[in-house]
Amino acid sequence: MSQDCIFCKIAWKKIETEFVYEDDKVVAFKDLNPQAPIHILIVPREHFAEILEAPASITGHIFSNVVPVLVDKFGLESNGFRLVINTGKQGGQTVEHLHVHLLGGRDMTWPPG
Ligand code: 5GP
Ligand code: ZN
Repeated sequence: MSQDCIFCKIAWKKIETEFVYEDDKVVAFKDLNPQAPIHILIVPREHFAEILEAPASITGHIFSNVVPVLVDKFGLESNGFRLVINTGKQGGQTVEHLHVHLLGGRDMTWPPG
């Protein structure tokens, strides 16, 4: 756990947050500042600053196992959804602990801002 990292604190329950999903590798919770009716953050418990640092055992688990559970739980399969991983300064990353945004419940636009 990284001492100054907000998502480490959430993942290790130092800050009380309601999880919509959790297992031994990953937690998921609602974004504080939602950009869509459904806006979930999927966060590995282990601290990886960004996607390039994370092993396939984590990213594969998120995309193959966790996303389908959340898509089912929030009823996103029929209308679709968007997954986002902001990375680095130009990528718009503001929290330096890997997280996958799951957004749904409205029409998305392209290109993103
Ligand atoms: P990024 O910009 O790094 O891709 O996304 C960080 C996200 O984390 C933002 O959407 C922001 O609203 C969310 N966020 C930041 N701090 C907290 C927090 O303490 N709790 C929750 N639930 N979300 C947070
Ligand atoms: Zn962290």
